[in-house]
Amino acid sequence: MSDFLVSVLWFLLFFGGAIYLAYNRVNLFTSTVAAGGALLAYTIFGSGSFLWLLFLWLMFGVLVVPNLRDFRREKVTRPALDIYRTMLPSMSDTERDALEAGNVWWDGELFSGMPDWDRLMSFPAPKLSDEEQAFLDGPCEELCRMLDDWDISHERGDMSPEVWQFIKKNRFFAMIIPKQYGGLEFSAYANAMVITKLASRSTTASSTVGVPNSLGPAELLLHYGTEEQKQRYLPGLAAGDEIPCFALTSPQAGSDAAAIIDSGVVCRGEWEGEEIVGIRLNWEKRYITLAPVATVLGLAFKLYDPDHLIGDQDEYGITAALIPTSTPGVEIGRRHLPLGTPFQNGPTLGRDVFVPLEYVIGGREMAGKGWKMLVELLSVGRAITLPSTASGGGQAATYATGAYAQLRKQFNLPVARFEGVGEALTRIAGHTYIMNAAVAVTSGAIDQGEKPAVPAAILKYHCTELGRKVANDAMDVHGGKGIMMGPRNYLGRSYMATPIAITVEGANILTRSLIIFGQGAIRCHPFVLRELYAAQEENREQGLIDFDDALFSHIGYAISNAARAFFLALTHAKFSRVPLNTPTRRYYQNINRYSAAFALAADFAMLTLGGKLKQKELLSARLGDVLSSMYLASAVLKHFENQGRPASDLPLVEWSVRTLMYNAQEQLHSFLRNFPNRPVAFFLRCFIFPRGRTYSSPADELGQKIVELITRSGEARERLCRQAYTTIEPGNPVGLLQEALALSEALAPLEQRLRQARKEGLIDAEYPGHQIEQAANAEVISEDEASRLRSYHEKLTALMAVDDFPADQIGRVRAAADDEPQSAAPVARSAARSKAAARKKSSPRRKKAAPDND
Ligand SMILES: Cc1cc2nc3c(=O)[nH]c(=O)nc-3n(C[C@H](O)[C@H](O)[C@H](O)COP(=O)(O)OP(=O)(O)OC[C@H]3O[C@@H](n4cnc5c(N)ncnc54)[C@H](O)[C@@H]3O)c2cc1C
Repeated sequence: MSDFLVSVLWFLLFFGGAIYLAYNRVNLFTSTVAAGGALLAYTIFGSGSFLWLLFLWLMFGVLVVPNLRDFRREKVTRPALDIYRTMLPSMSDTERDALEAGNVWWDGELFSGMPDWDRLMSFPAPKLSDEEQAFLDGPCEELCRMLDDWDISHERGDMSPEVWQFIKKNRFFAMIIPKQYGGLEFSAYANAMVITKLASRSTTASSTVGVPNSLGPAELLLHYGTEEQKQRYLPGLAAGDEIPCFALTSPQAGSDAAAIIDSGVVCRGEWEGEEIVGIRLNWEKRYITLAPVATVLGLAFKLYDPDHLIGDQDEYGITAALIPTSTPGVEIGRRHLPLGTPFQNGPTLGRDVFVPLEYVIGGREMAGKGWKMLVELLSVGRAITLPSTASGGGQAATYATGAYAQLRKQFNLPVARFEGVGEALTRIAGHTYIMNAAVAVTSGAIDQGEKPAVPAAILKYHCTELGRKVANDAMDVHGGKGIMMGPRNYLGRSYMATPIAITVEGANILTRSLIIFGQGAIRCHPFVLRELYAAQEENREQGLIDFDDALFSHIGYAISNAARAFFLALTHAKFSRVPLNTPTRRYYQNINRYSAAFALAADFAMLTLGGKLKQKELLSARLGDVLSSMYLASAVLKHFENQGRPASDLPLVEWSVRTLMYNAQEQLHSFLRNFPNRPVAFFLRCFIFPRGRTYSSPADELGQKIVELITRSGEARERLCRQAYTTIEPGNPVGLLQEALALSEALAPLEQRLRQARKEGLIDAEYPGHQIEQAANAEVISEDEASRLRSYHEKLTALMAVDDFPADQIGRVRAAADDEPQSAAPVARSAARSKAAARKKSSPRRKKAAPDND
């Protein structure tokens, strides 16, 4: 063997060994022993010169130092800790509360660079109890039947009194309230499925039901209320006698909700004939869901105690209290109109409202803990209501659009057969699959006791964004049919409502730019929070020990991620360990690869930018996108397993994961392109993309398979839209489209006979409706067959039709409602008349009272 070859073999031994040790995260001591052994062997058997060997042994010496704990603590860690303390980003109490909210779950595994798939796979598939299933099949189905979204949004401006009564009587507002207080005590999964179903029918109904079951008085009371407060309110909330709302947002403070100026001053005052120590409240809130009809107002304000009546603090900070809206000085009743979706939402004012201290949720010891309460609860609530709403909208859009695109013909072909339309249909189905998976897997984890704050933010942001994309695509596929408003339009209202979900519970731009990665970097990273706490430890020596431990573990972790990112990228992760040997195996491996790459990039971003990363919102957003893509892709894989790996869903799974992981690659690429420290960006690129950007987006062929799945009746189409309200009944176009689709499939042989007859010149009409008569006369089809075809074409014509109105009915103020829209239901007509009169009297509030609460 030539010297050169021997040298190459030695190099491979060292390099491969180092990669192996780092890849498998072998601990420092074992790695040092292994490196020492290899070097000894090289010294004895190799042919290195003296100087070269000396250099290698000196390098080995550097590796030995970290093993000498006391030495490294004094000589390395202490100075590093001093520098670190000066670099620590400033953190307000509210930021700290937000960071500490919830717990770390699968997001932590993805952050580790080496996800333990067994942890995810060991979670049981979420299941509905018999009682929950009966609720979905019974009251929930019935409520969907009762809802007439055109009447709600364009005629009545509200749900009908019967619907309100039905919702209260069947305890829709009490899904999260325990049975001991009269509630339904449903699982998070069941709660999510109910909201999904309602959202597939009416966003007004899903928003109305969603709020009391999410971040509202009931949730706050359950977690923080005193027993007396629970007994006082929960039975009434469960029975629907009390209507709750929660008011945080004010005109000055939207996204920066901690900046509210609404105040509560501790003082003496008269309450029920006696002088007591209470709180004098002044507030001005807006955008508050259910406020116009609320009986109990959850209120966030800043508490001050200038006379030190309850302690020695002047200021307590954000506090939450429950105020009956009948209390003198509380103003409710005026309404906003959120993009034509008239769920009850409006402002509330309070002027010098005096209430007892006992109104503070949790009593006086919870004074100043309001922000912490809110962010804790948001860490769960955000994973349920809005993502389920988006998923429900997606399911309805998929079901309807799949059928519509098959039934609607242009150029003698179903529009679904055109590749351009197929692309939109594929996105509709794939995005809906992702939303379904994310909601089911995450709510299932919540039911197992997790409080996944970062996944909740991921779901809030991505499901509502995917919902918006689905709504856009569905509108495009429907053409004019989606645009003409009227009772027959089943898309336009949910399309208009999409920005609502984008804005509430943390507006999306902020959630993407600041929260997902910002919170993840500190909470999910295995060492950052430990380092942060160690640096802030009052006992400096203990701080040094803790910091030393975290720092060296962190260095090992970074080296390992570099090795893993490089090796997995070089090998396309083909050899990485995954939990299953199924057709989805490669996707687990892709996630393994990007997990290591992401962990490496995140570490270097934090190391080189430190506190400045908070201002570099676009870098943070892109890293957040990578984390989100991996989380959603994992949810898709787990959902597929939870559903028993149905083979017909494979195209949806493949399209979803491939789309998400392609997005992860592109976002990492953009992150590196824009990383301000160019040498570091170059170094990272060498490890993350040594072979370039090799991951491709889904192939067109895959899209074609998905189009087949959702444009034909079948189990995959039904499974994808399982929670949507698809019952075939006159008021439900989504169900009627399925009925027509099934009929078109059954009648396909007859239609083929008509086409053949036309080719043979037996009939000559172009339009299928006219062909039926000619074919019957020419005895190409029997009278019975003609009658079946006629009935189908009547249904089809009705489904393809849009509404039109008398000219004087178009406009905000209608002169009179004597002429009705051609297809408006009778109930809508009488409502239209009374509303037209009411509209004349009411006008939008033009002048607003000046804020007076500071
Ligand atoms: C229909 C509806 C129902 C609601 N229901 C309730 C309710 O029941 N109770 C309640 O208390 N509130 C409620 N809200 C209020 C809601 O939570 C706020 O609208 C939301 O927090 C955003 O505040 P804003 O509208 O004032 O927007 P702004 O705070 O003015 O934000 C404007 C834009 O700037 C972005 N932005 C702000 N700061 C940053 C940043 N640091 N980095 C990046 N981007 C940033 C935001 O993402 C947004 O896109 C509701 C709102 C709506 C529309």
